[in-house]
Amino acid sequence: MYTAIGYAAQSSTAPLAPMTFQRRALRADDVAIDILYCGVCHSDLHQARNEWGIAVYPLMPGHEIVGRVTAVGDKVGNYQVGDLVGVGCMVDSCRQCEACHKDLEQYCLEGPTMTYATPDRVDGSNTMGGYSSSIVVSEHFVLRMPQGLDLPSAAPFLCAGITTYSPLKHHGVGPGHKVGVLGMGGLGHMGIKFAKALGAEVTVFTRSQAKAEEARRQGADQVIVSTDEAQMCAAAGRFDFLLDTIPVQHDLNPYLETLKFDGVHILVGLIEPIDPPVHAANLVLKRRVVAGSLIGGIAETQEVLDFCAEHGITCDIEMLDIRNINEAFERMHKGDVKYRFVIDMATLHA
Ligand code: NDP
Ligand code: ZN
Repeated sequence: MYTAIGYAAQSSTAPLAPMTFQRRALRADDVAIDILYCGVCHSDLHQARNEWGIAVYPLMPGHEIVGRVTAVGDKVGNYQVGDLVGVGCMVDSCRQCEACHKDLEQYCLEGPTMTYATPDRVDGSNTMGGYSSSIVVSEHFVLRMPQGLDLPSAAPFLCAGITTYSPLKHHGVGPGHKVGVLGMGGLGHMGIKFAKALGAEVTVFTRSQAKAEEARRQGADQVIVSTDEAQMCAAAGRFDFLLDTIPVQHDLNPYLETLKFDGVHILVGLIEPIDPPVHAANLVLKRRVVAGSLIGGIAETQEVLDFCAEHGITCDIEMLDIRNINEAFERMHKGDVKYRFVIDMATLHA
C-alpha cells in the first residue's frame, strides 16, 4: 500500500479538506503515478456537492491528472518508471462488452469505473481522484503525454479536451459546417479550438457581453449573447451543430431554433432532465436531433493528446494552490475562471 494525501469532501456541505489515505499495492497490470498537476472540472463541483445524487463520501475529486510513473506491476508492458503520463475520467471497465471492444469504454455495458466516487471492480473500495499526491491505475487506462506539451496546460485535455473533441469527431464536424458552442468555460473554450482546428466556422453563445472579445481571441468567428433575444432570433436556422456545455438546466428551445434542418444539438453539460421541456415541433418540423455525449474512449483520449501536440492546441489555465481549492470552486460556480484551474500538486506539500 502507498500512503497518499489529498483533498476530499466528507459530505455534500463540507468544504474540501486534507485527508491521508492508502493507495492500493500494485496489481500486475498497475502503474503507480506521482501526480504533478490536476485540472479542476465543473463535474468535480457537481460531485462534491452531490448535485447528481450519486456522490460517495469521502469524495476526492480530480480526473485531469498528469504525473510521473514511480512503479509498475509485473505485467505492465507499455510504461516505465520516469514516464510522463495522464489519467482521465475512467480507471477501469469490464473490457469484454461490445462497447469496450469498440474502444468506447465510457459506454461499457456494465458501467465504467470512474476515477473517483465509484467502487473499484476488484476490491470494492471507493475510488479517489487526482486532488492527491499519487494514484494507482491499470495501464490500459493510462495515457502517454506526447513530447512538447506543456504539462499543466495539457492536464485539461484529459476531460475538457476529450469531452469536446469526441462529439465533434463523431458527428463529422469539418469544413463548411457552422458550429455553435454554448457556454465558454473549461469545456466550451476547448470546443472552440477543436471546432476551428477541424475546419468549422465557430460561434460562441455566452451570457455575458464581457466575454465577447475573449471569445474572438479564443478563435470564435462570431459571438451571440444568449441573454439578448434579438441576437438569438437573428440566428434562426443558422447552425449545423450546437455543442452545449451549460452545466445547469436551461431552455433548449431558443437554441434549437438556431439550428438548420437536420441540425444536431449535442448535450455534454446536462445530465438532469431537460427542463423546461423541448417543444417537439422544434425537432419534428426540421428533422433536428438532440444528442448527448460522454467523455471519450481511451484510444480517442490518446488521439486528443497527440492532436493537441500536433496542432499546437493549448488550454488556457490558472495555476492553483490546492489550499485555495474551495475558493476556486466558488469562482467556477460563478463562471469566473479563465478557463480552467489546474492544481500544482507541489502545493500539497507546501
Ligand atoms: P465551467 O463552469 O468551466 O463552464 C461552464 C460555462 O457554462 C460557464 O463558463 C458559462 O459560460 C456557462 N454557464 C454557467 N452557468 C450558467 C448558467 N446558470 N446558465 C447558462 N450558462 C451558464 O464548466 P465545465 O466546462 O468544466 O463543465 C461544463 C459542464 O460539462 C458541467 O456540467 C460538467 O459536469 C459537464 N461535463 C460533462 C462531461 C461529459 O462527458 N459529458 C465531461 C466533463 C464535464 P458563459 O459565461 O460563457 O455563459
Ligand atoms: Zn471533467
